[in-house]
Formats: sequence, structure tokens, C-alpha cells
Amino acid sequence: SLSDRLTATFKNLRGKGRLSEADVDGTVREIRRALLDADVAVPVVREFVAQVKERALGEEVSTSLNPGQQIVKIVNDELVRILGGQTRRLNLAKVPPTVIMLAGLQGAGKTTLAGKLAKHLKSQGHTPLLVACDLQRPNAVKQLQVNGERAGVPVFAPHPGVSSEFEASTGDPVAVARDGIAEAKTKLHDIVIVDTAGRLGVDTEMMEQAADIRAAINPDEVLFVIDAMIGQDAVNTAQAFNDGVNFTGVVLTKLDGDARGGAALSVASVTGKPVMFASTGENLDDFEIFHPDRMASRILDMGDILTLIEQAEKSWDKGEAERMAKKFTDREDFTLDDFLAQMQQIRKMGSMKKMLAMMPGAAISKQQLEQFDEKQMDRVEAIVRSMTPHERVAPKIINGSRRARIAKGSGVHVSEVNQMLERFGEAQKMMKKMASGGGIPGMPGARG
Ligand code: GDP
Ligand code: MG
Repeated sequence: SLSDRLTATFKNLRGKGRLSEADVDGTVREIRRALLDADVAVPVVREFVAQVKERALGEEVSTSLNPGQQIVKIVNDELVRILGGQTRRLNLAKVPPTVIMLAGLQGAGKTTLAGKLAKHLKSQGHTPLLVACDLQRPNAVKQLQVNGERAGVPVFAPHPGVSSEFEASTGDPVAVARDGIAEAKTKLHDIVIVDTAGRLGVDTEMMEQAADIRAAINPDEVLFVIDAMIGQDAVNTAQAFNDGVNFTGVVLTKLDGDARGGAALSVASVTGKPVMFASTGENLDDFEIFHPDRMASRILDMGDILTLIEQAEKSWDKGEAERMAKKFTDREDFTLDDFLAQMQQIRKMGSMKKMLAMMPGAAISKQQLEQFDEKQMDRVEAIVRSMTPHERVAPKIINGSRRARIAKGSGVHVSEVNQMLERFGEAQKMMKKMASGGGIPGMPGARG
């Protein structure tokens, strides 16, 4: 993995006092490979790497970080900066309604997102209205109506009550958009979400229609919806939509798939527009506010690397930490350090799944087998590594604020820290049983 490669690079660099061109080149090569693996567009990678290199060579040598760590920190900072820095919130109109227009290719996830966004805004006390301006695809209006119903949000459509494909397809999307906003004003909706049509590829007719709608309704936000799986095409598509409708923000969809989010960097980098939301599934609740720092970690897959850096910044001394840990009187018999050591032991034996498959007549069901997940183990490890020595030996002290800090440090949601501690609690119980002559211990890293 990238983490392994970078850690190896760090080892080579450890102890050196200055950043030489050779050091920078070695690390930068790994970064370039990671970005390409994450499907960041080639020209974006080229520019990004050049910038990082320039910054790294000009940088003063840190006293607490080794050169490799220092470069990774620069990379992370740059990624976060390009992705928009802070999470960017919706720009609300001073005089309601706030008008939000969605644009993007067909199948990008606009209509689904319209429902998600409506539900999210409703839960925040807003009174959104959905407006169906995709009159090109048969059933598009119906699809929005279904989503609106699920979200508990009304939908303004060309011929309310009559969802005939024929009538809908003869409507004028610009007129519908305008009427929808008039309707929102009359009925006192404070936000209008305008769903529009897309095509499979960028074409001038579709772009003209989107541009016409934009000109007619003067939206406060134009959200460009893009499928994270689009890969190298992200640059051209984003550029075309930026030229065509001058969008104000980006929504990345289908992040539940294999995509590692490279499209986020490509789009943000070529357009300078922030990513604001992420869509992570087909259900209306699979919706997230976009966090640039978390996406930076996802792109570089370096949760544990960042933890390493944090530790270096705190001038971490493992020996000292261990001595301190011995002093804690609330120390448990089976600690999170043991848990971690166990997990590493298991990993050394090769891929979890392979190993489990080799166990004859294993007392492990197929379902349990599927729950083992290497990535999950990576995250569990990152979580434990973000804990203080005291927390590791006395997990009982890990209260809400500590959980929040650990989640931030390891780049996961608090819920994952909670789950992880729950699992650890179960493993701990198993170990106690084992000690008193019980059966097979619970495997760390297994869900549920
Ligand atoms: P539109 O053409 O841009 O309006 O796209 P749709 O909203 O109709 O979505 C196209 C397809 O992608 C539908 O089958 C959706 O259920 C699916 N979809 C949308 N967003 C997501 C997502 O975040 N994850 C997954 N897995 N599927 C999604
Ligand atoms: Mg649609």
C-alpha cells in the first residue's frame, strides 16, 4: 500500500537533517503514483506534484518531523487547500427563496441528490420545494416526485397531478423553472431545488438549456453533480460545465463505490470551485457534508501516516510512553495495545480472507468471513494509534470528547470509534473467558 511505501521512504530518510532534492524526488514519486491510483487526472497530478516539490524545497527543515513526514504534511495541506479548505456551506439568499440549481451529465445522480438535499434541508428546519425541469427523459418527473414523496418535500412539475410522459416532454424547462420559483414565493418555501436534464456526453443543446435556465432564475447556488467513478474524464466534463453554467459548487456522487475520490481533486483543481456535498448510496440518507481534510486522507490513503506525523509533532517517545503506561493503576489486563499487537500478528500471516479460507472446517460462517475486511483493519489500527498511552491501557476513560479527538486524529467518524471500542469490549470479554479455559477468542478487526 501507499502507507507501506511511504513508511519505507521515511525509514530511509530518518535522521537526515535537511531536505535534499533526492529526498523530495523519492517521496514525490510515491505521491504521484498514489494520486494516479486514486484516478486524479494526469495534468492535475503533474501540476500538483510540481507545486509540492517547489514548496518542499523552499521549506525550512522542521525539527520535529523527518523530511519524508514533512513532505507528506505539505502534500496533505495542499490537498486540503485545493479541495476548498474548510467545509463550504450553502449560500442562502438574503431574501428567500434561496434558489439551488443542479447540473451535470445524465446518470450523475442529480435527481437522487435533489431528494437527499431536500431531506437534509428539511431536517434543518427549511421548507424546500423541488422543481422538475428535466423534461427530456421519460419518467424523470415521476422519479423526482417519488424522491420528493420519500423526503416529505413537495414537487413542482409542469402538469401537476398529470404525470403523463407526453405532456411533460412537451413542456419548456425554462418556463417550468420560472413558474416553480413563483410557486415557492406564493407558498412561502424558503429554498427551491431545481433538477435539470443531462445527456450522456456534454453537448451544446443540453448546455444551452442549462445556461438558459440559469439565466432565467438567477440561482444562489449552481451545484455541479459529478460521478466520482468518472475518472480521467472529470477534467473535460467539469471544464465544460464550468464554461457553460459557471457553477458555484461541486457534489461528488457514488463515493460508496470503489472510487477513491480523485475526481474531487481534478474538478476542484481545474475549476477552483469547492466540493460541498457527497453522495454515498442510493438511499436518501446516503448523503454527507463534504470535508476536505477527510477526502485528502482518502485520496492518499494515509490515515496512519497522518497519525505518525501527529505523534512526531508531539515529540512522541514510545519508551517514555510505555513507562508512563505502567504507572496507570486503572490498567486493564487485556489492553488496546495487546489488541493492536494481536491484529498485527494476524496480518503477518497474510491476507485475512486467505488465512480463514485455509482453516479446515473453520468455526467461522461465510457471513462472518465476509465481514473481515483489510481496509476495516487499517481503520481500526489508525483509531488505536490515535489514542494516548493511557487510553490504550484504560479504555474506560475514553469519554465523548476523547472519542471526538480520536476520530479526528484517525480521519474516521465518531461512530467508527464507538463501533471499534464496542468490538474491543467484546474481544476483551472473550480473552477473559479464554483465560479461564474458554474457546476461540474473538478476532480483532471483525465487524459485529
Ligand atoms: P441523474 O440522471 O443525474 O438525475 O441521475 P439519477 O439521480 O437518476 O441517478 C442515476 C443512477 O445512479 C440511479 O440508479 C441512482 O439510484 C444511482 N445513484 C445516484 N447517486 C448514487 C450514489 O451516491 N451511489 C450509488 N451507488 N448510486 C447512486
Ligand atoms: Mg435526473
